[in-house]
Amino acid sequence: MIVPEAPTPARQKRARRGPREARRKWLVAALPALLMLVFAPLVLRRLGRLPETPPATQAAAPLLAPIPASAAAPGGDLPHINAARAMQYVREVVAFGPRPIGSDAHKKLEAYLTAHLKGTTVEYDDFTAATPEGSFPIRNIMAKFPGTKPGVVVIATHYDTLMRVKGFVGANDGGSGTGLLLELANQLHGAKRNGYGVWLVWLDGEEAVRQWSDTDSLYGSRHLAEKWRKDGTISQIKAFLLADMIGDADLNIDRDENSTPWLENLVFQAASMLGYQSHFFARQIAVDDDHIPFAKAGVPVADLIDFDYGYNNVFWHTTQDTLDKLSPKSLEITGEVLLGTVRLLDQK
Ligand SMILES: [Zn+2]
Repeated sequence: MIVPEAPTPARQKRARRGPREARRKWLVAALPALLMLVFAPLVLRRLGRLPETPPATQAAAPLLAPIPASAAAPGGDLPHINAARAMQYVREVVAFGPRPIGSDAHKKLEAYLTAHLKGTTVEYDDFTAATPEGSFPIRNIMAKFPGTKPGVVVIATHYDTLMRVKGFVGANDGGSGTGLLLELANQLHGAKRNGYGVWLVWLDGEEAVRQWSDTDSLYGSRHLAEKWRKDGTISQIKAFLLADMIGDADLNIDRDENSTPWLENLVFQAASMLGYQSHFFARQIAVDDDHIPFAKAGVPVADLIDFDYGYNNVFWHTTQDTLDKLSPKSLEITGEVLLGTVRLLDQK
């Protein structure tokens, strides 16, 4: 994926901040903190609970709406992400090495995904993509889990890795989402879920072959969105949730301006219910990713992406995108928030 306008103002500000300014800022910051220490107990007693802090960019949005009493609490009968197992999947995916379209490792990964999904309804969207580097076979892989409610929520990621950087193994970019969705498949497997059907989609050909452009990128998602538009499937899709680069141990999922605002609010509500809101939406950016073709087809979309991978995103699309930068907890947080969002959608 790419972010059109970079660097962001937030990054410029952080880069400029010197030690003296930092000290001054500390003093300014300390005063309200001291006042808080004095008055917080009084305030908290009145409110009954700590109010959630909205992201700075979302002060006016309806994020502060109270969570409905009917909404399921975290825990309870809800399936839980097995973080260690999700991480193990990411390890196994990365062990195939670089997995660009057309490579042997890519074929091995296709077989690995298919083997894992044995016993569920799996469908493929196969086609040949014309790229600036020639023709490549592309395979989107879908696992379908039925629900009691008419309509489907799609949870997607991409499993291909960048071609043009030699030795790029994409632990976070390609690996993290692929492993997480395998764990989600474990959670969704079994009894028909009480709510919308869920389709897990491992998209292929997300990465540009040469240079990111409208025609050199998103090969798999563009094809699938068009296919679903033509055959009418698109009208069944209630929401499209995308997970990309969500394994970073320092997890900061950005609020994406190209996603559907009400669905982003729902993601934030799910995160808040789980106590994970500090990992979400501190920054707002516009992201070009696999959700865009579905947004263009009229589907509500939300891209869960942490595009601050290492200081100033320094690990992104480099050979530094390796397993040691990831944390099982980040996979768990994202997985739980995705499932929480699906449950909130069920209640809509
Ligand atoms: Zn990438």
